[in-house]
Amino acid sequence: MWTKIIGQDRVKRILQQAIRSGKLPNGYLFTGTEGIGKDAVAIEFAKALNCDTPLAGGTEACDTCAACKAIGTFQSPLIRMVFPLAKTDSWSQKDIDEEIGLASEQLALKADDPYHNIVLPKALEIKLDQIRTIRLEASRSVQTGKKRVIIICEADTMRTEAQNALLKTLEEPQASTLFILTSSNPARLFATIQSRSQDIRFDLLNPVDIQQKLVDENEVEPKQAEFLARLSGGSLTVARNMASEDILELRKKVVQFLRVGLSRSRKNLIAELDGVIPRRGSEFMERRQTVEQLLRLFAIWFRDALALVSNNKDSIINTDLMDDLTKFTSRFGDPSRLVRALHIVQRAASDTRLQLQLREVLITMSIELEETLLPKAA
Ligand SMILES: [Zn+2]
Repeated sequence: MWTKIIGQDRVKRILQQAIRSGKLPNGYLFTGTEGIGKDAVAIEFAKALNCDTPLAGGTEACDTCAACKAIGTFQSPLIRMVFPLAKTDSWSQKDIDEEIGLASEQLALKADDPYHNIVLPKALEIKLDQIRTIRLEASRSVQTGKKRVIIICEADTMRTEAQNALLKTLEEPQASTLFILTSSNPARLFATIQSRSQDIRFDLLNPVDIQQKLVDENEVEPKQAEFLARLSGGSLTVARNMASEDILELRKKVVQFLRVGLSRSRKNLIAELDGVIPRRGSEFMERRQTVEQLLRLFAIWFRDALALVSNNKDSIINTDLMDDLTKFTSRFGDPSRLVRALHIVQRAASDTRLQLQLREVLITMSIELEETLLPKAA
């Protein structure tokens, strides 16, 4: 079972120990950046808890029995995945059918590859209704010796009402149900929810493992895979998304924006920015993904600039752009300004998860970057 999981040895040991001791908390909170296997581990854990013929002293699922198979394909009542849905409240049967269809398509992909990142168009939040449904399910009994595992992916996308409803559920523990919340942004969760779950922090993946996975499963050339693994910051999802974009072209645009956009009038800044933003015609999800990559490249750039000015050249990622980096830092080399610039980019990245107006987010970010990096002319 755990053989499917990339890295995360420390996390596996903690969970195996929990199975051995028979002492499970009411809920776990799996935290750490996106794309490092939080869902994948949650699914494997659900199998291990319910396997009919477990291995390794009961701490490892066989992956072949009926229980393992049913859980792995989400056909079992012992597993539930809850994930953000689109923000529409449409009552049209066509819209509802479409959403259900897309959701089950995503689940099928997840069953096939537990590292698949579930994304639905315009899905920004886990709704109150979804939490009500799982509250009801959690109150039902299960077969003796079995454990229902409810996985709430991206739990931080629950708004206040949904979090309140979940909190109530966590306050009335059911021995038959284990909640696993996953989040790359746990600070957005109520402190009361955090305190009622056992926090397990996940580690970043080793770039070598990511490179291997890209070569084996995504047919990326080894050299390109090595580069993407380095850019990905330890996240398989990020690396895979980058593999599907023309990342070098995007990076060129980022450099161009920093070179030209920052030094001219505000009108030029916006014009330069529009050259960077993906066209309006394309699918929202694709545009969001591209914008996320862009922001990631911005962040990497500022981190590299900081590494360069603090003489920490070993941690530079854009090693092939040393010339541009050097020129950039000769103009914008003030470390405290660079740190602020990095924060601005990180906030923009988190804003793109919460709203649909991607262009507005980028414009705000650009203006803030300009004000931060360019000292006002006297
Ligand atoms: Zn099994």
